[in-house]
Amino acid sequence: MTHDSLGEIQTGKIPLKGRTLPELSEIVVSLGEKPFRAKQIYHGLYVNRYESWDQFTTFSKALREKLEEQCSLTRLHTIKHLKSVDGTQKFTFASEPENGKEFEAVWIPSGDGGRKTICISSQVGCTLNCKFCATAKLEFQGNLKAHEIVDQVLQVEKTVGDRATNIVFMGMGEPFHNYFNVIRAASILHDPDALNLGARRITISTSGVVNGIRRFIENKEPYNFAISLNHPDRDGRREIMDIEEKFTLPELLQAAKDFTRELKRRITFEYVMIPGVNMGKQNADKLVKIARSLDCKINVIPLNTEFFGWRRPTPDEVREFISLLEPAGIPILNRRSPGKDIFGACGMLASKS
Ligand code: SAH
Repeated sequence: MTHDSLGEIQTGKIPLKGRTLPELSEIVVSLGEKPFRAKQIYHGLYVNRYESWDQFTTFSKALREKLEEQCSLTRLHTIKHLKSVDGTQKFTFASEPENGKEFEAVWIPSGDGGRKTICISSQVGCTLNCKFCATAKLEFQGNLKAHEIVDQVLQVEKTVGDRATNIVFMGMGEPFHNYFNVIRAASILHDPDALNLGARRITISTSGVVNGIRRFIENKEPYNFAISLNHPDRDGRREIMDIEEKFTLPELLQAAKDFTRELKRRITFEYVMIPGVNMGKQNADKLVKIARSLDCKINVIPLNTEFFGWRRPTPDEVREFISLLEPAGIPILNRRSPGKDIFGACGMLASKS
């Protein structure tokens, strides 16, 4: 068996999932069908959430048989499903159970104001080597295809029997190292004719891949945008995030400023708090200076891993650090990071591969 360009096992069938509507129309026409069928298939897949051709009961039997013969509708398989005491649920998925590639998504139900978030992965493992992140310890096994990204949402929602209000690309991987699949997936999540989630309810987070940020600005992508800053100066950031070697903090901040200026939208900085590494008055002052230079808000996240003997900050340390950031005059959110008991919290996604 070989893998085709969509990462699926070659069956000779045309994979139909993860396609935009215009792409689907082209395929449908090439099969000798009327273009309106594409809209029906798209609606069936993403609104009715059908998983097999039998479910397309408005199609004639002959058409269903033809589609079955020529087109595939692959879906993710749930390999593991864990429930936290706090209501968080972690899913380990595989596209094909036998290929060993596993990736995770997390259902986080109890946010403020009835928020229900699904945190999804964009890659199997990650090529970045952020010192505090468990995903970095995995072997990198490749990019996820658009349908594998969208399907995480479909499968999680099917199992929990509920719909998410928000989607965050903050699971395994660096979204901007898989730019086109991520944007294509986001567009299907957003499309009113598909999953119909508001663009501001979809957040794409990058560790600082500046060329990706430039492309995101150029294409005027409507999605929420976050940068994992994690340290306010170059030397300190280089110590904990290898990406700093490739794209320096000044370049990153310039791109962030351009984002806020050109798209007229606020950016979110994520900041993992690691005692003795990036907290304290000096770091807080530098962070305030950055925050004042552009339209942003900061989400601080207490460290969830214990590599290098690092530890989680105490609630007092967190409060103190947040109070040091107050002069920035911007929203600072202490991000809840539930699901620690099932290794589903930020920075903990590392299913065995
Ligand atoms: N690669 C992208 C997407 C992953 S998002 C990015 O870096 O933005 C994962 C988020 O969790 C990032 O904001 C990261 O800084 C944070 N994180 C990673 N490891 C963590 C840990 N051990 N504890 C708390 N947060 C962590």
